[in-house]
Amino acid sequence: DVRVRFCPSPTGNPHVGLVRSALYNWAFARHFGGTFVFRIEDTDASRDSEESYEALLASLRWLGLDWDEGPEAGGEHGPYRQSERYDIYRDVTAKLLESGKAYHCYCTTAELEERREAARAAGKPSGYDGHCRNLTGEQVAAFRAEDREPVVRMRTPDETVTFTDLIRGEISVDQYNLFDYVLVRANGHPLYTLVNPVDDALMGITHVLRGEDLLSSTPRQLVMHQALRDLGIASGPMPRFAHLPLVTGDGGRKLSKREPESSLQLYLDRGFLPEGLLNYLALLGWSIGDDEEVFSMAEMSAAFDVTRVNPNAARFDLKKAEAINGIWLRRLPSDELTERMVPHLQEAGLLAHPPTPESIDLLRAATPLVQERMTVLDEAVGMLGFLFAGDAFQIDEADAAKVLTADARPVLEAAVATLEGLETWATEPIQEGLRAALVDGLGLKPKLAFGPVRVAVTGRRVSPPLFESMELLGREATLARLNAAIQ
Ligand code: GLU
Repeated sequence: DVRVRFCPSPTGNPHVGLVRSALYNWAFARHFGGTFVFRIEDTDASRDSEESYEALLASLRWLGLDWDEGPEAGGEHGPYRQSERYDIYRDVTAKLLESGKAYHCYCTTAELEERREAARAAGKPSGYDGHCRNLTGEQVAAFRAEDREPVVRMRTPDETVTFTDLIRGEISVDQYNLFDYVLVRANGHPLYTLVNPVDDALMGITHVLRGEDLLSSTPRQLVMHQALRDLGIASGPMPRFAHLPLVTGDGGRKLSKREPESSLQLYLDRGFLPEGLLNYLALLGWSIGDDEEVFSMAEMSAAFDVTRVNPNAARFDLKKAEAINGIWLRRLPSDELTERMVPHLQEAGLLAHPPTPESIDLLRAATPLVQERMTVLDEAVGMLGFLFAGDAFQIDEADAAKVLTADARPVLEAAVATLEGLETWATEPIQEGLRAALVDGLGLKPKLAFGPVRVAVTGRRVSPPLFESMELLGREATLARLNAAIQ
């Protein structure tokens, strides 16, 4: 039975690299009909926040990456927040100490530092030197008498740790890179080195799919997994590991958590669709087939094979993400697109909460005008703002300066004269009337004829189709705007 986990720490805003990890784990679980476990690694009270925890849950929900076990879903292996599992860690630590798989280390930071310097100077490995590995009863008593509080260290084996990464193949790390690492601080606080593999073991995780930045902790965690199995605390085969390629930004830098484009929130604000964003994130290291870039999450999970993930860093490309999102946006049923634009128009103050029935009808009628032109939902604000702005309507200043020049005046006057006389206010007659008056009548090229009308009515040089827009805006508002632009 395949069991995978997504186990973020709730610090800051969820970022795209993290979401990509969640997606790959989810797709892997769904592919095998396995279990997707969501665990919160919140053992760092100084950095973790409840807000970030809520944001993680909301993000996975919004994306549709449903979890089978975890916060709010429950499950047999809970609790799923590490901050609620300290009893378990205390218990495991006691067993590790008792069996000698771990031991107390009384070295002070100053002592460690001094010996590290000496080792470095002698050209020797500078990791922990095993000083407290085999203390006698008297030595321990002496340290205790000095009131030293010990940390707990893992006793790592004196042999090479080898494992086969599902993406990168065989990886081996010799003892010098392992050292006896700290599991529990002197104040009793358990560290990632302990809690992460302990929970993976206790939760029966079979496959660990996570970022390449964690590759260096895998040998240590394998040591822990083995120890837990030796002690009968965990059973079942050792987990398999797959380290996913880094996600880089422009110029190949690592896309750090601090950069705005790495934050999931940016994509929510811009109005990415979950379908589009997930599709793009899937492409950061994996593809469904040659030249096939657009696929649903159902298609992805059916085809997902972690061994086919590309080990090389994947560059995040915002333009491409938008292009993929645009494809998904065009595939939406028109009514669905209308629905999804609403929150963005509300956010911009263009629609009320809740929107009036008339404004929804108008938006529904306008949807086909923008569906082919948008890549993200937030563009609806710029494209459709003119329909909903009412008295707050404003013309883009730069566009006005370019187009609404003195030459525009006779064009606008002729437009008003024609439109006032129209019997039926509809796209066709508007188009025919303006063409006759401006192109034939004034002898203008279409661009010069319709440009000023477009800017006057929609506020921008780039807008949805002009005549349809005028029909939707209505005769009264259209004429008012044309007249205002003449002043
Ligand atoms: N809480 C760890 C992190 O967010 C999880 C690492 C892992 O997947 O093992 O970096």
